[in-house]
Amino acid sequence: MVPTVSRHSFFLLALVLIGACAPPPLAPGPEPAVGLPPIPRVEGALEIRVVHPTPQTPRPNVDSTFIYGSVGTGAASLTINGASVPVAPNGAFLAFLPVPQDGRWELAAEARGQTTRTTAVYRVPTPTPAAPAAPQEPVAVPDTAAPPAPETPAQPAAPITPRAPETIAFAQPLTGTVTGVADTLATGSDVAVGRLTPAGTFRWFLPRGARVTVTGQRGDLLRAQLGAGTEAWFADTLLTLAEPAPTAPAPVGAMEVRPAQEWVDVRIAAERAPFLVQPQGRTVSVLLYGRTAPAAPAQLGGDPLLTGGSWRAEAPDVARLELSLARGLWGYKAFYDAEGALVLRLRRPPTIDPNQPLRGVRILIDPGHPPAGATGPTSLTEAEANLAISLPLAEQLRARGAEVTLTRTTNAPLVSATDQVAELRARVNLAVQADAHLLVSVHNNAFAEGVNPFRNHGTSSYHFHPHAAELARALNQEIVATTRIPDLGARVSNLAAVRPTWMPAALTESLFMLIPEQEEALRNPRFLQRLAEAHVRGIENFVRQF
Ligand SMILES: [Zn+2]
Repeated sequence: MVPTVSRHSFFLLALVLIGACAPPPLAPGPEPAVGLPPIPRVEGALEIRVVHPTPQTPRPNVDSTFIYGSVGTGAASLTINGASVPVAPNGAFLAFLPVPQDGRWELAAEARGQTTRTTAVYRVPTPTPAAPAAPQEPVAVPDTAAPPAPETPAQPAAPITPRAPETIAFAQPLTGTVTGVADTLATGSDVAVGRLTPAGTFRWFLPRGARVTVTGQRGDLLRAQLGAGTEAWFADTLLTLAEPAPTAPAPVGAMEVRPAQEWVDVRIAAERAPFLVQPQGRTVSVLLYGRTAPAAPAQLGGDPLLTGGSWRAEAPDVARLELSLARGLWGYKAFYDAEGALVLRLRRPPTIDPNQPLRGVRILIDPGHPPAGATGPTSLTEAEANLAISLPLAEQLRARGAEVTLTRTTNAPLVSATDQVAELRARVNLAVQADAHLLVSVHNNAFAEGVNPFRNHGTSSYHFHPHAAELARALNQEIVATTRIPDLGARVSNLAAVRPTWMPAALTESLFMLIPEQEEALRNPRFLQRLAEAHVRGIENFVRQF
């Protein structure tokens, strides 16, 4: 789900309202070698601080939801709307309770004979249809069949306009040329994104110069006919419409293989045809829309990465090139050259020394946020926690010979504290500019309203493109062995941080910020070191097994 300005202010305001830090812990307890460390005892002043909901949180349209914060001391007892709620040794609390009809939570805390009370009130829904409460992070395991709400924005330039649901068909199809975006598919974010349906998932990623046949418009979306009856929807700001579109498919022209040291280019004379690249294991398929497949077999030359190739007709107006590789695909770029030919640049894997597998490997580490991000019961922000994992992670990777680039080394954003789309784009661009071999975005998780945190928490990781699946899996395996909380698995999600095509990219969600024990673990230097080590092992296992 796309974060809104109000969501961001929500967190800023929450920080301002909550303000002061918790008192220092009294004494560290014994620590297990695996799993989460025990919560340290804190006996500060009795004071109720509700982190969530804030007065800006709209009353959620769910039966039950969570409320969390701190009472300042582990010696306190707490009731919320009459229900007894456990207080963690550091004074944090987290409850999952029926949403009060009047939108008011009455909290009463008692310690050492002293009682304090406070009220947390939701924002009353306005009569006009209000936006649902924005989840802070992907919903880990939704109780419903609904797909997880992605944490990061989808595509800023492709908003769905609910006021214009009617599709207007053009009397004559027009040629839509992709303009105003990047000329190379490499980041997966700054090119023209085509959706299967107006509100559907991302499927096509077309660089500047691609030409599609546009047959209609719905609101600010253009409907393109790609071939074989396949429709794709693009934001109208991304395409320039001109002369009538060709009515018959054109043949694919010559194909050429051009090896270079770090990649091999497959050049296909296809006159700016829209395309879909599908890596799967040791195969890369390229669909060319509005094109007929050549009758002659694919000529591949003698590059060591390419072991074979064949053309076939996916449909009368869709040509499919299937390339066989000697190894799995590490990454790719796609662009049109000056003659309009499609160039598919297949990246060779880095040279791996089995004894020092990370030596010379360029790794971009992205401590997620700001802007936005979750906040824990005792006000640790996700941005702080992500950085606290990423700094020792970078140090450990460098000690093993990797060349590490961090998107940030302080709690300041890379380019914008308010524009999450710009911030994410800049971070992924940095990975491509640095020619990173790998991208790992470090996050911690949160829930949408109505999801029971006690039943649904766990460790997860995300990827988007198939060639990054194994990286996400390797990271998740090592991280869950360290956190010892439920394994939510390695999942596919359309997150900006994992959309680059040029390198395997994965995003980790180690712990949940709102769970007291997990928030506290993210403050523990020894646990943070172990969590960083788990990331290192995951990366190393991926590189070694590639
Ligand atoms: Zn996050």
